Amino acid sequence: MFLTVNLAQDQSKISRYLSSTLLDEIENTLKKWEKILIYLNKRGSHNSLVCKDCQHLWECQNCDVSLSVHNNPRKLLCHLCGNSEWFPLECKNCHGTNLLTVGVGTQQIEETLGVYFKKNDLNIYRFDSDSMKNISSKKAAIGELEAADIIIGTKMITTGFDFERVGLIGVVLVEQELGYPSFDAEERAYANLKQLIGRWNRKSQETNIVLQTFIPKHQSVLSLTETHMKGFFIKTLKERQSFSYPPYRELIRLEYRDTSAEKTLQFIGKLESKLQEYNTDNAYTIISSSTTFRKNNSHHGSCIVKWENLRDLLKNIEPLILRTSKLSVVFS
Ligand SMILES: [Zn+2]
Ligand SMILES: [Zn+2]
Repeated sequence: MFLTVNLAQDQSKISRYLSSTLLDEIENTLKKWEKILIYLNKRGSHNSLVCKDCQHLWECQNCDVSLSVHNNPRKLLCHLCGNSEWFPLECKNCHGTNLLTVGVGTQQIEETLGVYFKKNDLNIYRFDSDSMKNISSKKAAIGELEAADIIIGTKMITTGFDFERVGLIGVVLVEQELGYPSFDAEERAYANLKQLIGRWNRKSQETNIVLQTFIPKHQSVLSLTETHMKGFFIKTLKERQSFSYPPYRELIRLEYRDTSAEKTLQFIGKLESKLQEYNTDNAYTIISSSTTFRKNNSHHGSCIVKWENLRDLLKNIEPLILRTSKLSVVFS
């Protein structure tokens, strides 16, 4: 089951960001003794502006991200290219004045769910970079995560984990994923979200997905639905048992950019087949983008590769890397 919930119409009594639909689904999933993943952006530092009447979302004219609401001075700012505009008095699309600043953090969701489901004595675990600071090792975190009934997490839960019996994925606020708080492309929450949905869709049709948003008709929200339907985003991801995330495995991102989206995708396709040539025994995992991401008017696409000895692999594709200045290699 795949549901998009319009938060403007379905807000529960306990929170603006937890619909009664999502709360009901959580309850149903708990009855089946299955795990629940509640996903939202990194500590909720990003607030977007939407029009409640026509669902217009304020976005950057140069990049595929929503603008971030800032106070003092009250402005809308793009965190990727620095473009800014004054906070509007009315909607530029329908001239309505019902403008909503939307954004929520992991801690807030954890507290609200804790109060709501207290009677069931649940094990709710918040997994983000703040909670990770209090845990001595990532291995210990895996134990905690396995024991949890509800995991509330940021992009860290989208990579490398392989939980059994995930009955429900809830995305708290999709528009929050459309802008990032940093220039680091690893923070691409939206790409991560697509990956998360694509991944579980491939793994099991049984996992229910609930997307909450104030802008259900926005192209990015519709595109997530498409990702679910077609399961196309991750073509070659091999499900891994282990925690295949640095430092346990090396991870690189090969990123290509061009003013033409088509050329970027062509190059990424070529790069992926080249990488697959050296992947005869399926020793590594390749995740390549099937859509591009616009940053400062250039279209970015990437292949993410996880393996234990990436340097050897890079040596093999060196000629391809050296031939173009539009390709960058990022290690993490
Ligand atoms: Zn409007
Ligand atoms: Zn921008």
